[in-house]
Amino acid sequence: MERYPAWTKPACALARGRRRAPCGKRRPDPRRGISDKEVARTMTILIQNASFIVCDADHVLQDQDLLIEGNRIAGIGRFTPQPGWDIIPAHGRAVMPGLINAHTHLYQNFLKGLNDGVPLVDWCAQVLYPAADVIHTDHWQAHDERLGYAWSLAGALEMIQNGTTCCINMDMTMDAVFQAWLDIGFRGIGAVTLVDQWIPECLRREPALMRQEALGYVERWHGMPADSPRIHIMLAPSTPFLASPALLRWTAEQRDRLGLRVQIHVAETRYEVEQIAQTAGTTPLRYLERFGLVDERLTAVHCVHMDEEDLELLRRREVVVVHNPKSNLKLGSGIAPVPRMLELGIPVALANDGAASNDLLDMFEEMRCAALIQKGAAENPGVLSARQVFRMATEYGARACGIPAGVLEAGRLADVVIVNLRRPHLVPVHDIINTLVYCAKGSDVETVIIDGRVVMRGRQLQTMNEDDIIAMAEERGQDLRRRSLHSPLFPGHRHAEE
Ligand SMILES: [Zn+2]
Repeated sequence: MERYPAWTKPACALARGRRRAPCGKRRPDPRRGISDKEVARTMTILIQNASFIVCDADHVLQDQDLLIEGNRIAGIGRFTPQPGWDIIPAHGRAVMPGLINAHTHLYQNFLKGLNDGVPLVDWCAQVLYPAADVIHTDHWQAHDERLGYAWSLAGALEMIQNGTTCCINMDMTMDAVFQAWLDIGFRGIGAVTLVDQWIPECLRREPALMRQEALGYVERWHGMPADSPRIHIMLAPSTPFLASPALLRWTAEQRDRLGLRVQIHVAETRYEVEQIAQTAGTTPLRYLERFGLVDERLTAVHCVHMDEEDLELLRRREVVVVHNPKSNLKLGSGIAPVPRMLELGIPVALANDGAASNDLLDMFEEMRCAALIQKGAAENPGVLSARQVFRMATEYGARACGIPAGVLEAGRLADVVIVNLRRPHLVPVHDIINTLVYCAKGSDVETVIIDGRVVMRGRQLQTMNEDDIIAMAEERGQDLRRRSLHSPLFPGHRHAEE
């Protein structure tokens, strides 16, 4: 069975800049709008008689309906069903905003389970570089984008099944990523990775070409499809030490010119802080400030090692911080001062980070972890509440993305999740937010609506064949690992050949 769009395969390689592939298959045009297959999403949806409607962390309604028209929430209250409406009964269910994973690297879906006991810098050499070598060879030389299509579908499927409706994905082969999201019905922000120093030379794109490619993604995909945008672009110089001063300056210029947002890893490890102190004589955040990058358009990922002056700068410039507790724990990076940030009024979003350092795209587990580690570290159970964590995973996630989602109210995007509460680990419900944060699992998510379209109903994916996606992920993921072991960048490579 043919699972991959023809243009993702090398035989139909699209030479850079050409519209038509040699085999005659056109790369899909995201400007095409709603296809026949997607027409159903414009239907009016009535989620009826929900036991709980969690509008946001502080507002919960009981025994109400939620009405969706087009891609927006039309209202919450009591509605008389009309002929032609899609009625979803929700007694015994909690209806909540879709969770937002504000930072991930979906290519790492194929690297899960490969890292244990290795800190970030060593992990790059042992796991990341050999894989990136294979990914870039496929993309840059063979024009083969099947890997990216497969990891993006697998990642989106895992997120949908766990109640996540949107993510910010710092990734590679972005055409394949965006096409996968369109096909499965996911919403996402592609953070186009920009790197021009520190990593091995063979993994770096020629600087002018890298910039041209980034601008090409913006032109083709930002705000697509035009009639109901689900795809957006951010610029993402990976870290302050992976991007040269020239690249950081270019990022700020293009952000202003194109009206984009920016995502950067900041102060993730002590190594990074020491490196920037040695080379620039300041902290990573204040180094970025020199390039005009620290403002409300920045999402600063990690922020584990920050002094009070850094935190004050984050507050003053209204930067959104993105907290990745499980990744920070697994890589031994530390624990971000989240309670202090929230106390200062800094919005902190929540995220899974890449599957190589987590290894799940499960925001329910991430919420639980975020709350528990702060309580333990501070030896104070009151230091971070379930309500604060729920807001991080929804409202502040939407702020990081720059989209009107994360809260259930009329006019917001209809990204809605229905959780089945009729489960032994969820009854009785005394406080629905506490139940969702401390008790609920991704597998309790029953139905997921993204942009007003039911993409999962009764745990069945509605948009694609789930078995095909899992088969693609298994096939491509195993192939990537096999070929990574033969990459010249694999640490044992030379040794193995001797
Ligand atoms: Zn990351």
